[in-house]
Amino acid sequence: MNKPIHIALLGLGTVGSGVYKLLSMRAQEMPQIAGAPIEISHILVRNTKKERPGVDAALLTDSWQDIVSDPEISIVVELMGGIEPAHTYISEALAAGKNVVTANKDLMAVHGGELLDLAAQHHCDLQFEAAVAGAIPIIRPLKQCLAGNEISEIMGIVNGTTNYILTRMTQDGMEFDDALAMATELGYAEADPTADIEGYDAGRKMAIMASIAFHSRVTFEQVYTEGITNIHATDIRYAKEMGKAIKLLGVACNTPEGIEVRVHPMLIPDFHPLATVNDAFNAVFVHGDALDDAMFMGRGAGEMPTASAVTGDIIDTARNLQMGCTGRIGCTCYKELPVKSIDEIKSKYFIRLRVEDRPGVLAGVSGVLGNNGVSISQVIQKASKGGSSDLVVITDTVRERHIRDALTIMRSMSMVRDIASVIRVY
Ligand code: NAP
Repeated sequence: MNKPIHIALLGLGTVGSGVYKLLSMRAQEMPQIAGAPIEISHILVRNTKKERPGVDAALLTDSWQDIVSDPEISIVVELMGGIEPAHTYISEALAAGKNVVTANKDLMAVHGGELLDLAAQHHCDLQFEAAVAGAIPIIRPLKQCLAGNEISEIMGIVNGTTNYILTRMTQDGMEFDDALAMATELGYAEADPTADIEGYDAGRKMAIMASIAFHSRVTFEQVYTEGITNIHATDIRYAKEMGKAIKLLGVACNTPEGIEVRVHPMLIPDFHPLATVNDAFNAVFVHGDALDDAMFMGRGAGEMPTASAVTGDIIDTARNLQMGCTGRIGCTCYKELPVKSIDEIKSKYFIRLRVEDRPGVLAGVSGVLGNNGVSISQVIQKASKGGSSDLVVITDTVRERHIRDALTIMRSMSMVRDIASVIRVY
Protein backbone atom coordinates (compact mmCIF):
# COMPACT_ATOMS: atom_id res chain seq x y z
CA MET A 1 0.00 0.00 0.00
CA ASN A 2 1.21 3.53 -0.74
CA LYS A 3 2.38 5.66 2.18
CA PRO A 4 -0.39 7.67 3.89
CA ILE A 5 -0.92 11.27 2.82
CA HIS A 6 -0.96 13.53 5.85
CA ILE A 7 -3.28 16.49 5.88
CA ALA A 8 -4.17 19.29 8.32
CA LEU A 9 -7.62 20.81 8.71
CA LEU A 10 -7.71 24.52 9.58
CA GLY A 11 -11.15 24.87 11.18
CA LEU A 12 -13.61 22.35 12.58
CA GLY A 13 -16.89 24.25 12.30
CA THR A 14 -19.77 23.31 9.99
CA VAL A 15 -17.64 22.37 6.98
CA GLY A 16 -14.57 21.12 8.90
CA SER A 17 -16.73 18.72 10.91
CA GLY A 18 -18.33 17.47 7.70
CA VAL A 19 -14.94 16.83 6.10
CA TYR A 20 -13.76 15.02 9.27
CA LYS A 21 -16.86 12.78 9.15
CA LEU A 22 -16.65 12.10 5.41
CA LEU A 23 -12.96 11.19 5.55
CA SER A 24 -13.72 8.86 8.49
CA MET A 25 -16.63 7.29 6.57
CA ARG A 26 -14.44 6.62 3.50
CA ALA A 27 -11.20 5.74 5.36
CA GLN A 28 -11.34 2.01 4.52
CA GLU A 29 -11.75 2.63 0.79
CA MET A 30 -9.38 5.60 0.55
CA PRO A 31 -6.39 3.55 -0.67
CA GLN A 32 -8.52 2.48 -3.66
CA ILE A 33 -10.20 5.87 -4.18
CA ALA A 34 -7.18 8.13 -3.71
CA GLY A 35 -4.32 5.64 -4.16
CA ALA A 36 -3.25 6.02 -0.52
CA PRO A 37 -4.74 6.39 2.95
CA ILE A 38 -5.51 10.01 3.86
CA GLU A 39 -4.73 10.79 7.49
CA ILE A 40 -5.64 13.93 9.39
CA SER A 41 -2.58 14.81 11.51
CA HIS A 42 -3.62 18.19 12.94
CA ILE A 43 -6.82 20.22 13.30
CA LEU A 44 -6.38 23.94 13.92
CA VAL A 45 -9.14 25.58 15.99
CA ARG A 46 -9.46 28.72 18.11
CA ASN A 47 -10.65 26.90 21.21
CA THR A 48 -8.94 23.56 21.90
CA LYS A 49 -10.97 23.09 25.11
CA LYS A 50 -14.36 23.06 23.36
CA GLU A 51 -16.24 19.73 23.51
CA ARG A 52 -16.15 18.14 20.01
CA PRO A 53 -17.97 14.78 20.14
CA GLY A 54 -16.53 12.06 17.90
CA VAL A 55 -13.29 13.95 17.20
CA ASP A 56 -9.88 12.70 18.36
CA ALA A 57 -8.93 15.50 20.79
CA ALA A 58 -5.22 14.70 20.38
CA LEU A 59 -5.39 16.19 16.86
CA LEU A 60 -6.57 19.61 18.02
CA THR A 61 -4.11 22.49 18.15
CA ASP A 62 -4.22 26.27 18.22
CA SER A 63 -0.70 26.57 16.82
CA TRP A 64 -0.37 27.26 13.09
CA GLN A 65 3.41 26.98 13.43
CA ASP A 66 3.08 23.30 14.46
CA ILE A 67 1.31 22.65 11.16
CA VAL A 68 3.32 24.72 8.70
CA SER A 69 6.61 23.43 10.12
CA ASP A 70 5.51 19.77 10.03
CA PRO A 71 7.28 18.29 6.96
CA GLU A 72 4.84 15.34 6.86
CA ILE A 73 1.86 17.58 6.02
CA SER A 74 1.39 17.76 2.27
CA ILE A 75 -2.19 19.15 2.09
CA VAL A 76 -3.53 22.03 4.17
CA VAL A 77 -7.34 22.26 4.11
CA GLU A 78 -8.45 25.79 5.04
CA LEU A 79 -12.02 25.86 6.46
CA MET A 80 -11.84 28.81 8.85
CA GLY A 81 -13.31 31.46 6.56
CA GLY A 82 -12.64 35.22 6.44
CA ILE A 83 -9.63 37.03 5.01
CA GLU A 84 -7.17 36.94 7.91
CA PRO A 85 -5.48 34.82 9.13
CA ALA A 86 -6.63 32.53 6.26
CA HIS A 87 -4.73 34.62 3.70
CA THR A 88 -1.48 34.47 5.67
CA TYR A 89 -1.78 30.77 6.47
CA ILE A 90 -2.53 29.77 2.86
CA SER A 91 0.35 31.93 1.59
CA GLU A 92 2.75 30.40 4.12
CA ALA A 93 1.54 26.86 3.36
CA LEU A 94 2.10 27.35 -0.41
CA ALA A 95 5.50 28.97 0.20
CA ALA A 96 6.41 25.88 2.25
CA GLY A 97 5.48 23.67 -0.73
CA LYS A 98 2.23 22.40 0.78
CA ASN A 99 -0.87 21.96 -1.39
CA VAL A 100 -3.99 23.81 -0.33
CA VAL A 101 -7.71 23.07 -0.50
CA THR A 102 -10.05 25.86 0.60
CA ALA A 103 -13.79 26.61 0.69
CA ASN A 104 -13.13 30.31 1.27
CA LYS A 105 -15.01 32.39 -1.36
CA ASP A 106 -14.39 35.67 0.48
CA LEU A 107 -10.65 35.13 0.15
CA MET A 108 -10.61 33.68 -3.37
CA ALA A 109 -12.84 36.49 -4.73
CA VAL A 110 -10.30 39.08 -3.59
CA HIS A 111 -6.87 37.36 -3.47
CA GLY A 112 -7.46 34.41 -5.82
CA GLY A 113 -5.08 35.65 -8.54
CA GLU A 114 -2.19 36.27 -6.17
CA LEU A 115 -2.64 32.93 -4.36
CA LEU A 116 -2.87 30.98 -7.62
CA ASP A 117 0.36 32.64 -8.79
CA LEU A 118 2.04 31.64 -5.54
CA ALA A 119 0.77 28.07 -5.95
CA ALA A 120 2.19 27.95 -9.49
CA GLN A 121 5.55 29.29 -8.29
CA HIS A 122 5.80 26.37 -5.85
CA HIS A 123 4.22 23.74 -8.17
CA CYS A 124 1.39 23.23 -5.70
CA ASP A 125 -2.31 22.58 -6.10
CA LEU A 126 -4.68 25.27 -4.84
CA GLN A 127 -8.18 23.83 -5.18
CA PHE A 128 -11.41 25.61 -4.21
CA GLU A 129 -14.40 23.72 -5.61
CA ALA A 130 -16.48 24.32 -2.44
CA ALA A 131 -16.04 28.11 -2.67
CA VAL A 132 -18.74 28.31 -5.36
CA ALA A 133 -22.14 26.64 -5.04
CA GLY A 134 -21.16 24.15 -2.31
CA ALA A 135 -21.66 20.57 -3.48
CA ILE A 136 -22.23 21.47 -7.13
CA PRO A 137 -19.20 20.73 -9.32
CA ILE A 138 -18.60 23.93 -11.32
CA ILE A 139 -14.98 25.07 -10.90
CA ARG A 140 -13.54 21.79 -12.17
CA PRO A 141 -16.04 21.50 -15.05
CA LEU A 142 -15.22 25.07 -16.15
CA LYS A 143 -11.44 24.56 -15.88
CA GLN A 144 -11.32 21.05 -17.32
CA CYS A 145 -14.37 19.43 -18.93
CA LEU A 146 -15.47 22.63 -20.71
CA ALA A 147 -11.96 23.93 -21.45
CA GLY A 148 -12.49 23.57 -25.20
CA ASN A 149 -15.40 26.01 -25.20
CA GLU A 150 -15.66 29.73 -25.47
CA ILE A 151 -18.06 30.41 -22.61
CA SER A 152 -20.29 33.41 -23.31
CA GLU A 153 -22.70 33.33 -20.37
CA ILE A 154 -23.04 32.03 -16.85
CA MET A 155 -26.21 32.61 -14.93
CA GLY A 156 -26.87 31.18 -11.53
CA ILE A 157 -28.79 30.97 -8.32
CA VAL A 158 -25.74 30.79 -6.09
CA ASN A 159 -27.11 31.73 -2.69
CA GLY A 160 -29.38 29.23 -0.94
CA THR A 161 -30.55 31.60 1.81
CA THR A 162 -32.05 34.13 -0.58
CA ASN A 163 -33.49 31.42 -2.80
CA TYR A 164 -35.22 29.94 0.24
CA ILE A 165 -36.63 33.37 1.21
CA LEU A 166 -37.90 34.07 -2.33
CA THR A 167 -39.42 30.59 -2.50
CA ARG A 168 -41.39 31.19 0.72
CA MET A 169 -42.52 34.60 -0.59
CA THR A 170 -43.65 32.98 -3.86
CA GLN A 171 -45.25 29.80 -2.59
CA ASP A 172 -46.71 31.08 0.72
CA GLY A 173 -47.25 34.77 -0.10
CA MET A 174 -44.96 35.81 2.80
CA GLU A 175 -43.39 39.26 3.09
CA PHE A 176 -39.57 39.46 3.12
CA ASP A 177 -39.19 39.95 6.92
CA ASP A 178 -41.33 36.90 7.76
CA ALA A 179 -39.55 34.71 5.22
CA LEU A 180 -36.15 35.85 6.57
CA ALA A 181 -37.28 35.02 10.13
CA MET A 182 -38.28 31.54 8.97
CA ALA A 183 -34.94 31.04 7.16
CA THR A 184 -33.11 32.05 10.36
CA GLU A 185 -35.21 29.67 12.49
CA LEU A 186 -34.41 26.77 10.15
CA GLY A 187 -30.68 27.56 10.10
CA TYR A 188 -30.63 28.68 6.42
CA ALA A 189 -29.74 32.26 7.38
CA GLU A 190 -26.90 33.31 9.68
CA ALA A 191 -27.41 35.57 12.74
CA ASP A 192 -26.11 38.42 10.56
CA PRO A 193 -27.65 37.72 7.14
CA THR A 194 -26.25 40.85 5.42
CA ALA A 195 -23.81 39.05 3.09
CA ASP A 196 -26.61 36.82 1.80
CA ILE A 197 -29.58 39.20 1.54
CA GLU A 198 -27.53 42.08 0.08
CA GLY A 199 -26.08 39.81 -2.63
CA TYR A 200 -22.42 40.02 -1.49
CA ASP A 201 -22.03 36.25 -1.06
CA ALA A 202 -23.42 35.65 -4.55
CA GLY A 203 -21.20 38.49 -5.88
CA ARG A 204 -18.05 36.76 -4.59
CA LYS A 205 -19.06 33.51 -6.29
CA MET A 206 -19.80 35.33 -9.56
CA ALA A 207 -16.36 37.02 -9.45
CA ILE A 208 -14.70 33.60 -9.13
CA MET A 209 -16.81 31.98 -11.87
CA ALA A 210 -16.47 34.89 -14.30
CA SER A 211 -12.67 34.87 -13.88
CA ILE A 212 -12.49 31.19 -14.75
CA ALA A 213 -15.12 31.18 -17.50
CA PHE A 214 -13.76 34.21 -19.40
CA HIS A 215 -10.02 33.67 -18.61
CA SER A 216 -9.76 37.19 -17.22
CA ARG A 217 -9.47 38.20 -13.55
CA VAL A 218 -12.66 39.69 -12.08
CA THR A 219 -12.59 40.73 -8.43
CA PHE A 220 -15.53 41.13 -6.06
CA GLU A 221 -15.28 44.95 -6.16
CA GLN A 222 -16.03 44.81 -9.90
CA VAL A 223 -19.30 42.93 -9.42
CA TYR A 224 -22.46 45.06 -9.23
CA THR A 225 -24.54 43.70 -6.35
CA GLU A 226 -28.12 44.34 -5.35
CA GLY A 227 -29.94 42.17 -2.80
CA ILE A 228 -33.55 41.14 -2.21
CA THR A 229 -34.52 43.43 0.70
CA ASN A 230 -36.68 45.60 -1.60
CA ILE A 231 -38.69 42.74 -3.07
CA HIS A 232 -42.30 42.67 -1.87
CA ALA A 233 -44.94 39.96 -2.00
CA THR A 234 -46.88 42.32 -4.33
CA ASP A 235 -44.03 42.24 -6.90
CA ILE A 236 -44.09 38.46 -6.83
CA ARG A 237 -47.88 38.44 -7.36
CA TYR A 238 -47.55 40.69 -10.43
CA ALA A 239 -44.69 38.54 -11.73
CA LYS A 240 -46.87 35.43 -11.39
CA GLU A 241 -49.68 37.14 -13.34
CA MET A 242 -47.15 37.67 -16.14
CA GLY A 243 -45.99 34.02 -16.05
CA LYS A 244 -42.68 34.88 -14.38
CA ALA A 245 -40.76 34.13 -11.19
CA ILE A 246 -38.46 36.47 -9.25
CA LYS A 247 -35.01 35.04 -8.44
CA LEU A 248 -31.77 36.52 -7.11
CA LEU A 249 -29.52 35.82 -10.08
CA GLY A 250 -25.82 36.13 -10.69
CA VAL A 251 -25.21 36.99 -14.33
CA ALA A 252 -21.85 37.02 -16.12
CA CYS A 253 -21.61 37.63 -19.87
CA ASN A 254 -18.64 37.97 -22.17
CA THR A 255 -19.56 40.68 -24.68
CA PRO A 256 -17.44 42.31 -27.42
CA GLU A 257 -17.29 45.48 -25.24
CA GLY A 258 -16.17 43.65 -22.10
CA ILE A 259 -17.36 41.49 -19.24
CA GLU A 260 -20.73 42.11 -17.61
CA VAL A 261 -20.93 40.70 -14.10
CA ARG A 262 -23.70 41.44 -11.63
CA VAL A 263 -26.02 40.06 -8.98
CA HIS A 264 -29.59 41.33 -8.63
CA PRO A 265 -33.17 40.12 -8.47
CA MET A 266 -34.64 39.31 -11.88
CA LEU A 267 -37.96 38.30 -13.36
CA ILE A 268 -37.48 35.15 -15.40
CA PRO A 269 -40.10 33.21 -17.39
CA ASP A 270 -41.72 30.31 -15.52
CA PHE A 271 -40.42 27.94 -18.19
CA HIS A 272 -36.74 28.91 -17.70
CA PRO A 273 -34.88 26.03 -15.97
CA LEU A 274 -33.69 28.38 -13.19
CA ALA A 275 -37.31 29.32 -12.33
CA THR A 276 -37.90 25.79 -11.05
CA VAL A 277 -34.90 25.82 -8.67
CA ASN A 278 -36.51 26.34 -5.28
CA ASP A 279 -35.81 26.34 -1.53
CA ALA A 280 -32.12 26.30 -0.57
CA PHE A 281 -31.01 24.69 -3.85
CA ASN A 282 -28.45 26.35 -6.11
CA ALA A 283 -28.05 26.05 -9.85
CA VAL A 284 -25.60 27.32 -12.44
CA PHE A 285 -26.55 27.67 -16.08
CA VAL A 286 -23.65 27.83 -18.57
CA HIS A 287 -23.64 28.62 -22.28
CA GLY A 288 -20.62 27.68 -24.40
CA ASP A 289 -20.08 27.70 -28.17
CA ALA A 290 -19.59 23.94 -28.44
CA LEU A 291 -21.47 22.83 -25.33
CA ASP A 292 -24.63 24.89 -26.05
CA ASP A 293 -26.56 25.03 -22.73
CA ALA A 294 -25.88 23.07 -19.55
CA MET A 295 -27.26 23.39 -16.05
CA PHE A 296 -25.65 22.19 -12.84
CA MET A 297 -27.94 21.91 -9.81
CA GLY A 298 -27.62 20.80 -6.22
CA ARG A 299 -27.12 21.87 -2.63
CA GLY A 300 -25.09 25.04 -2.37
CA ALA A 301 -24.23 24.85 1.33
CA GLY A 302 -24.46 22.77 4.48
CA GLU A 303 -22.18 20.44 6.36
CA MET A 304 -22.09 17.33 4.19
CA PRO A 305 -22.79 18.90 0.75
CA THR A 306 -19.87 21.31 1.24
CA ALA A 307 -17.72 18.51 2.68
CA SER A 308 -18.43 16.56 -0.52
CA ALA A 309 -16.72 19.24 -2.64
CA VAL A 310 -13.81 19.73 -0.20
CA THR A 311 -13.18 15.98 0.02
CA GLY A 312 -13.22 15.71 -3.77
CA ASP A 313 -10.47 18.35 -3.90
CA ILE A 314 -8.45 16.53 -1.21
CA ILE A 315 -8.68 13.25 -3.15
CA ASP A 316 -7.73 14.95 -6.43
CA THR A 317 -4.70 16.58 -4.80
CA ALA A 318 -3.72 13.24 -3.21
CA ARG A 319 -3.76 11.60 -6.65
CA ASN A 320 -1.70 14.44 -8.13
CA LEU A 321 0.82 14.12 -5.30
CA GLN A 322 1.32 10.44 -6.06
CA MET A 323 1.76 11.10 -9.78
CA GLY A 324 4.14 13.99 -9.07
CA CYS A 325 1.92 16.43 -10.95
CA THR A 326 0.62 18.92 -8.38
CA GLY A 327 0.25 22.42 -9.79
CA ARG A 328 -0.92 20.93 -13.13
CA ILE A 329 -4.01 23.16 -13.32
CA GLY A 330 -3.42 26.60 -11.92
CA CYS A 331 -4.66 30.04 -12.83
CA THR A 332 -6.47 30.07 -16.19
CA CYS A 333 -6.66 33.87 -16.57
CA TYR A 334 -4.52 34.73 -19.59
CA LYS A 335 -6.58 37.70 -20.86
CA GLU A 336 -7.15 41.18 -19.49
CA LEU A 337 -10.70 42.05 -20.50
CA PRO A 338 -12.43 45.21 -19.29
CA VAL A 339 -15.37 44.90 -16.90
CA LYS A 340 -18.34 47.04 -17.98
CA SER A 341 -19.92 49.57 -15.66
CA ILE A 342 -23.52 48.80 -14.66
CA ASP A 343 -24.54 52.10 -16.33
CA GLU A 344 -23.67 50.60 -19.72
CA ILE A 345 -25.58 47.36 -19.26
CA LYS A 346 -28.84 46.91 -21.14
CA SER A 347 -31.91 45.23 -19.68
CA LYS A 348 -35.68 45.23 -19.61
CA TYR A 349 -37.26 46.56 -16.42
CA PHE A 350 -40.31 45.92 -14.26
CA ILE A 351 -41.24 49.22 -12.59
CA ARG A 352 -44.01 49.30 -9.98
CA LEU A 353 -45.26 52.77 -9.11
CA ARG A 354 -47.88 53.98 -6.64
CA VAL A 355 -49.62 56.76 -8.56
CA GLU A 356 -52.58 59.11 -8.13
CA ASP A 357 -55.79 57.48 -9.35
CA ARG A 358 -56.78 60.06 -11.99
CA PRO A 359 -56.75 60.50 -15.78
CA GLY A 360 -53.49 61.55 -17.43
CA VAL A 361 -51.15 59.69 -15.07
CA LEU A 362 -50.28 56.93 -17.54
CA ALA A 363 -49.63 59.56 -20.24
CA GLY A 364 -47.37 61.49 -17.83
CA VAL A 365 -45.31 58.43 -16.85
CA SER A 366 -44.99 57.12 -20.40
CA GLY A 367 -43.99 60.63 -21.54
CA VAL A 368 -41.05 60.69 -19.08
CA LEU A 369 -39.96 57.21 -20.15
CA GLY A 370 -40.26 58.12 -23.85
CA ASN A 371 -38.25 61.34 -23.40
CA ASN A 372 -35.44 59.24 -21.94
CA GLY A 373 -35.43 56.74 -24.78
CA VAL A 374 -37.34 54.05 -22.86
CA SER A 375 -40.17 52.31 -24.71
CA ILE A 376 -42.89 50.35 -22.94
CA SER A 377 -43.82 46.78 -23.77
CA GLN A 378 -46.56 46.12 -21.17
CA VAL A 379 -48.65 48.09 -18.66
CA ILE A 380 -50.86 46.91 -15.79
CA GLN A 381 -52.87 49.44 -13.80
CA LYS A 382 -54.98 48.48 -10.81
CA ALA A 383 -57.05 50.87 -8.73
CA SER A 384 -56.83 50.45 -4.98
CA LYS A 385 -57.79 52.28 -1.82
CA GLY A 386 -56.80 55.78 -0.74
CA GLY A 387 -57.06 57.43 -4.18
CA SER A 388 -53.90 55.78 -5.47
CA SER A 389 -53.32 52.87 -7.78
CA ASP A 390 -50.54 50.45 -8.71
CA LEU A 391 -49.04 51.13 -12.11
CA VAL A 392 -46.72 48.40 -13.36
CA VAL A 393 -44.68 49.05 -16.47
CA ILE A 394 -42.48 46.56 -18.30
CA THR A 395 -40.01 48.32 -20.57
CA ASP A 396 -38.27 47.19 -23.71
CA THR A 397 -34.49 46.69 -23.54
CA VAL A 398 -32.78 49.89 -22.47
CA ARG A 399 -29.46 51.09 -21.10
CA GLU A 400 -29.36 51.22 -17.27
CA ARG A 401 -28.46 54.90 -17.14
CA HIS A 402 -31.52 55.87 -19.21
CA ILE A 403 -33.80 54.14 -16.71
CA ARG A 404 -32.03 55.90 -13.84
CA ASP A 405 -32.53 59.29 -15.53
CA ALA A 406 -36.25 58.57 -16.06
CA LEU A 407 -36.69 57.42 -12.43
CA THR A 408 -35.03 60.59 -11.12
CA ILE A 409 -37.61 62.70 -12.99
CA MET A 410 -40.51 60.49 -11.87
CA ARG A 411 -39.51 60.92 -8.22
CA SER A 412 -40.17 64.64 -8.54
CA MET A 413 -43.63 64.22 -10.15
CA SER A 414 -46.57 64.91 -7.83
CA MET A 415 -48.70 62.26 -9.57
CA VAL A 416 -46.11 59.59 -8.61
CA ARG A 417 -46.51 58.88 -4.90
CA ASP A 418 -43.83 56.20 -4.68
CA ILE A 419 -41.51 54.14 -6.87
CA ALA A 420 -42.16 50.88 -5.05
CA SER A 421 -39.93 48.51 -7.05
CA VAL A 422 -37.54 48.44 -9.99
CA ILE A 423 -36.54 44.92 -11.03
CA ARG A 424 -34.69 43.77 -14.13
CA VAL A 425 -36.42 41.35 -16.50
CA TYR A 426 -34.62 38.52 -18.32
P1 NAP B 1 -17.60 27.95 11.03
O1 NAP B 1 -18.68 26.97 11.31
O2 NAP B 1 -17.71 29.31 11.59
O3 NAP B 1 -16.22 27.29 11.50
C1 NAP B 1 -15.01 27.98 11.52
C2 NAP B 1 -13.95 27.12 12.17
O4 NAP B 1 -12.69 27.75 12.00
C3 NAP B 1 -14.15 26.88 13.66
O5 NAP B 1 -13.80 25.56 13.99
C4 NAP B 1 -13.17 27.87 14.31
O6 NAP B 1 -12.60 27.40 15.53
C5 NAP B 1 -12.05 27.91 13.26
N1 NAP B 1 -11.36 29.20 13.25
C6 NAP B 1 -11.86 30.40 12.88
N2 NAP B 1 -10.92 31.36 12.98
C7 NAP B 1 -9.81 30.74 13.42
C8 NAP B 1 -8.52 31.19 13.75
N3 NAP B 1 -8.17 32.48 13.66
N4 NAP B 1 -7.61 30.28 14.18
C9 NAP B 1 -7.96 28.98 14.31
N5 NAP B 1 -9.16 28.48 14.02
C10 NAP B 1 -10.09 29.36 13.59
O7 NAP B 1 -17.43 28.14 9.44
P2 NAP B 1 -18.01 27.19 8.28
O8 NAP B 1 -19.45 27.48 8.06
O9 NAP B 1 -17.58 25.80 8.48
O10 NAP B 1 -17.26 27.82 6.99
C11 NAP B 1 -15.89 27.56 6.72
C12 NAP B 1 -15.55 28.05 5.31
O11 NAP B 1 -16.33 27.34 4.35
C13 NAP B 1 -15.84 29.53 5.06
O12 NAP B 1 -14.85 30.05 4.20
C14 NAP B 1 -17.17 29.50 4.35
O13 NAP B 1 -17.38 30.64 3.52
C15 NAP B 1 -17.02 28.24 3.52
N6 NAP B 1 -18.28 27.63 3.13
C16 NAP B 1 -19.19 27.32 4.08
C17 NAP B 1 -20.39 26.71 3.70
C18 NAP B 1 -21.41 26.32 4.74
O14 NAP B 1 -22.45 25.75 4.36
N7 NAP B 1 -21.19 26.58 6.00
C19 NAP B 1 -20.64 26.44 2.33
C20 NAP B 1 -19.67 26.77 1.38
C21 NAP B 1 -18.47 27.36 1.79
P3 NAP B 1 -13.51 27.16 16.85
O15 NAP B 1 -14.30 25.92 16.56
O16 NAP B 1 -12.54 26.97 17.96
O17 NAP B 1 -14.36 28.38 17.00
